[in-house]
Amino acid sequence: MARLVMKFGGTSVADLDRIRNVARHVAREVKAGHDVAVIVSAMAGETNKLVGFVEEASPAFDAAEYDMVVSSGEQVTAGLLAIVLQNMGIPARSWCGWQVPIETSDVHAAARITNIDPQNLLSSWEQGKVNVIAGFQGIGPDGRITTLGRGGSDTSAVAVAAALDARCDIYTDVDGVYTTDPRIVREKARRIERISYEEMLELASLGAKVLQTRSVELAMVHKVPLRVRSSFDDPDSPLQVQDNGSGPGTLVCDEDDIMEQQVVTGIAYARDEAHVAVRRVKDKPGIAASVFGPLADANISVDMIVQNVSVDGYANITFTVARNDLRRALDVLQAEKDNIGYESIDTSTEVAKVSIVGIGMRSYAGVASKMFRTLAEKGVNIEAITTSEIKVSVLIDEAWLELAVRALHTAFDLDAV
Ligand code: ADP
Ligand code: ASP
Ligand code: MG
Repeated sequence: MARLVMKFGGTSVADLDRIRNVARHVAREVKAGHDVAVIVSAMAGETNKLVGFVEEASPAFDAAEYDMVVSSGEQVTAGLLAIVLQNMGIPARSWCGWQVPIETSDVHAAARITNIDPQNLLSSWEQGKVNVIAGFQGIGPDGRITTLGRGGSDTSAVAVAAALDARCDIYTDVDGVYTTDPRIVREKARRIERISYEEMLELASLGAKVLQTRSVELAMVHKVPLRVRSSFDDPDSPLQVQDNGSGPGTLVCDEDDIMEQQVVTGIAYARDEAHVAVRRVKDKPGIAASVFGPLADANISVDMIVQNVSVDGYANITFTVARNDLRRALDVLQAEKDNIGYESIDTSTEVAKVSIVGIGMRSYAGVASKMFRTLAEKGVNIEAITTSEIKVSVLIDEAWLELAVRALHTAFDLDAV
């Protein structure tokens, strides 16, 4: 019998009716003869509510207790789904992360899965039961509950699939991975039939939150066949996944399994960066190190970096950090003022990063210049640029974000016809 992991996100389990709908998807796969493990998220909005309680309780909270609180949403939906399945006559049982166990590192709120012993899940399958597992949570080396970072149930699902040598279907509120966030380019975004792990990894890490980045990394490393599909499709539709990989949604797979390759496959955006400009630093060896060394020592990741041409021996260094690191970055730079020797620091949080991604870029020249021209024609100013083999990212004023994404979507022939 084939093994299958099915993951349902927050919108898909938002209330009991939706949980009943999820149970129908599970029932279909059980009837088709699969051994099924289901990973569930908390009900939509629940995790935000729990995070809010923690922050209200104390601004300087203990991260281990944060995990204790915010992991609880998934426990509720796992139990409810098991009850609904049992009520439909399908044997099922729920699991918390620690019961499986899903072992993780000790970094609370951002733990990484280190090991999953599949034995308990396999025994439960032998007893003919569906395993319903609370996503997002695990157990740290000290026996305390951990969570995997926001959106972490995707990673729970892929990790469980890897441990069980199963296929993994991620059910969400859109019917696949689109050329860009369908919420931004609603009428023109197109569903992608197949996308490579590498491209999906870039899109996720550049802001496409349809899959948590770590889940794609794990799928790529362990070669887990990963599909993104909608939980709102009719659970009894005859259009299901075929042995040749065709079926509803989007298949994330090896690039060799993709016949047609676009130059640009997708466009992602992120609003979570902040821009920092360090003004009038001496243009001499060691200055960049004096800025970025202390930031690195403080564990602050820097993304895009620009140093402009010097005028009378002075230059500006501008870069981006995650918005929630901005305060700390400023503290570090202010403490280093004498050492760096800058005149002033400006910051802005009204910026957005727009990225084009595609493995086709490896073999085509002129992709970046087309991106810059397209934005110039719309009057969008570029504040910083970064590139890698299969992506180009630009930082722009947040006010132009939608316009920029739409223009690039059209320019790179991604619009639905
Ligand atoms: P879930 O709760 O099921 O995990 P998420 O909200 O985390 O769902 O992810 C699904 C959302 O991801 C979609 O509603 C969509 O707005 C967003 N999204 C961003 N980029 C893309 C993309 N390229 N393709 C599909 N969805 C995307
Ligand atoms: N419930 C968690 C969150 O909202 C995990 C998840 O949904 O993937 O981040
Ligand atoms: Mg998600």
